Amino acid sequence: MSATTTIKPNPNYKRIATEEAWAPAELIVRYRKLYESGALGDPGFDSLWGFYSSSTAPRPTFIREKLADLGDMRIADMDATGIDHQILALTSPGVQVFDKAEAVALARETNDILNDAVRKYPTRFSGMTAIAPQAPEQAAQELERCSKFGFKGIIINSHTHGEYLSDPKFWAIFEAAEAMNLPIYLHPNTPPPKMIEPFVEAGLDGAIFGFGVETGLHLLRIITAGVFDRFPKLQIIVGHMGEALPYWMYRLDYMHAAGVKAARYECMKPLKKKVSDYLRENVYITNSGVAWEPAIKFAQQVIGVDRVMYAMDYPYQYTPQEVIDLDNMNMDVATKKKFYQSVAEQVFKLA
Ligand code: CA
Repeated sequence: MSATTTIKPNPNYKRIATEEAWAPAELIVRYRKLYESGALGDPGFDSLWGFYSSSTAPRPTFIREKLADLGDMRIADMDATGIDHQILALTSPGVQVFDKAEAVALARETNDILNDAVRKYPTRFSGMTAIAPQAPEQAAQELERCSKFGFKGIIINSHTHGEYLSDPKFWAIFEAAEAMNLPIYLHPNTPPPKMIEPFVEAGLDGAIFGFGVETGLHLLRIITAGVFDRFPKLQIIVGHMGEALPYWMYRLDYMHAAGVKAARYECMKPLKKKVSDYLRENVYITNSGVAWEPAIKFAQQVIGVDRVMYAMDYPYQYTPQEVIDLDNMNMDVATKKKFYQSVAEQVFKLA
């Protein structure tokens, strides 16, 4: 153990952190240039990366430095917090903000860099494949290419230029994910231009609230569009305690059934199952950003202990005390092992 170790390995379980961000420094420079050009026309992106790409305040400086490192500094931080393994994902919004050709090329470049890191530290890192959803066929090809790297999942940072995966034009991605048995991590993005104004004018567009509203909406759109009826084996992971959807399950079932029965919306078609059934059978939840025992236990109760797992959200919420608090949850060791280790091993096929 190194002198900097503050949290020891736990004898009862490995701690696998499942929503851990990285980004090459060159991508952050591209974000800054995209922001400065004003070409994207996305106030959410401007708010997020206008700040994080260039602010010299301590937090964004820390985040930029940590995101870019896939080596000794990251390993030292993992050791200091007792994290055995990170599942790595290109930070939000990934390559999705760029135009189609640039996004496809950047996905390849960043996946290659991640592959080098995973090969160097195979016991400490696993990777998720970054894709350009705006090019669904090329995205499916990239999944095929990266399956040879042994990548364990797919990272999609919610909407792409304001478009949602509930649109069938994106479903080649779901088809490939299901066929290759790869889970999709649906990670937040800032609300798109059509949604963001009342969020950003109150400073609530980012991780504090806008992320969760936008991503919860995205997952709900995927469910109500019938994606899981069409691709019944597909598994989607959402962070931040399921972006609040577990808390909504009763009302989602009630109002979806009422809406279908009344034929109120042309777009709202009958589903084979209740909305909550898909949350229990096709969705995994991580506690990224929410080191809070009552919320974790509630999700375990309503979604199931075999579908709720740990994430630190490094480096955005690198807080060693959170690991101590979660170790001390009033929860039997077998359930805690599922939370920290076994659910992740199962969904990402790590073992
Ligand atoms: Ca995150």
